[in-house]
Amino acid sequence: MIKLERRPKPAYLSEAVVIELTQKFKNDGSSVWNHAQIKTPLLASSNEKCAFCECSLSDESKYMEVEHFRYKNLYKDSVVEWSNLLPSCKRCNIAKGVHDVVTDPLVNPYDVDPRHHLSFRLYQLRGKDKIGISTVDALDLNNSDRLVLRRFEVGEQVFRSVRVAADRLESYKNSTTAIRKNKLLNIVETILDECQPRAAYAATTATVALSDEEFLEVITQLRALDLWKDYLEEKLLAAQNIAFQ
Ligand SMILES: [Zn+2]
Repeated sequence: MIKLERRPKPAYLSEAVVIELTQKFKNDGSSVWNHAQIKTPLLASSNEKCAFCECSLSDESKYMEVEHFRYKNLYKDSVVEWSNLLPSCKRCNIAKGVHDVVTDPLVNPYDVDPRHHLSFRLYQLRGKDKIGISTVDALDLNNSDRLVLRRFEVGEQVFRSVRVAADRLESYKNSTTAIRKNKLLNIVETILDECQPRAAYAATTATVALSDEEFLEVITQLRALDLWKDYLEEKLLAAQNIAFQ
């Protein structure tokens, strides 16, 4: 989970439309939130990922669900309230189910940096306080098959790429050709790209990469060799912004 920025309320959700849709939901329970002008800006605000587990929703956007942070059948007046809606995968939506965030608060990544309440260890999220513990629990964020294993796989990919980067650094130091320099900078950029907010499971990759001593050493040496570039620095800062400590 990473901090997200809520987009401005879509023009579609005018006061009149909100009243009309809310009444319709109260009358017949219809899925009034299933509208492109609600779903599209929600998806864009989360980099087309589930706001909770960071799985990609772009390939199968039909599987994106509009999650009501305050449960829709308990808080019917918030059923199309913009600040109550999040883009979620089906599995997180089902896991959260009828959970009442008013009596048992959860992390809403649009309102708070998840790192205030959660930490990361051995590919598992740990609650640092009651809200964090409830969040992991209610959303099943340590489900071994769908999340812990997936985080482990992306973490392994980071380790493999870091190994390649370290080899390419040695290779460049042996012979400072332009080709070797470019290959070295490319693999470092590739690693950082996987740590950007738009990448699936970016909190995991950023945390793994930025706590990997070999990767940090590569960065240190690139700086010493005057090969570190502004575009890499920007990506490094973005990764630091979402990595768990
Ligand atoms: Zn999810």
